[in-house]
Amino acid sequence: MKKQMSLLSKLQSFDSQMDAMYKSGLPDPNGPRKLTKKQKLLASERESLTQGIRKHLLRTYERMRESRLKSNPVVPAINEVCQGCYMVVTKSVIVDLRKGKKLVVCEHCGRILFLGDRDADSS
Ligand SMILES: [Zn+2]
Repeated sequence: MKKQMSLLSKLQSFDSQMDAMYKSGLPDPNGPRKLTKKQKLLASERESLTQGIRKHLLRTYERMRESRLKSNPVVPAINEVCQGCYMVVTKSVIVDLRKGKKLVVCEHCGRILFLGDRDADSS
């Protein structure tokens, strides 16, 4: 799961770079226009990133990106604080994160959580 989460957060930063790029003028990749060479390259890069991620995890991520949590659906929990909404999460959330066996979401904002560095080290 740890590896999954790190892939997922990589994918997220890749996607936000893409977003920034499209905002600054490139056409929408899902649009009807033909893909440019650069876009094809990016799409295949993304493809290879997503390959290591479990399907249900990827689906959850994609769904969240399409919803209100668009900009950062995957956030670390640092010192038991969700870095998406800055609320303290419960101990059981942290315990689940430490176990690393299942997908853990913030009980306040619903973002996908992974352990931030400090918490990860102290376990
Ligand atoms: Zn949160």
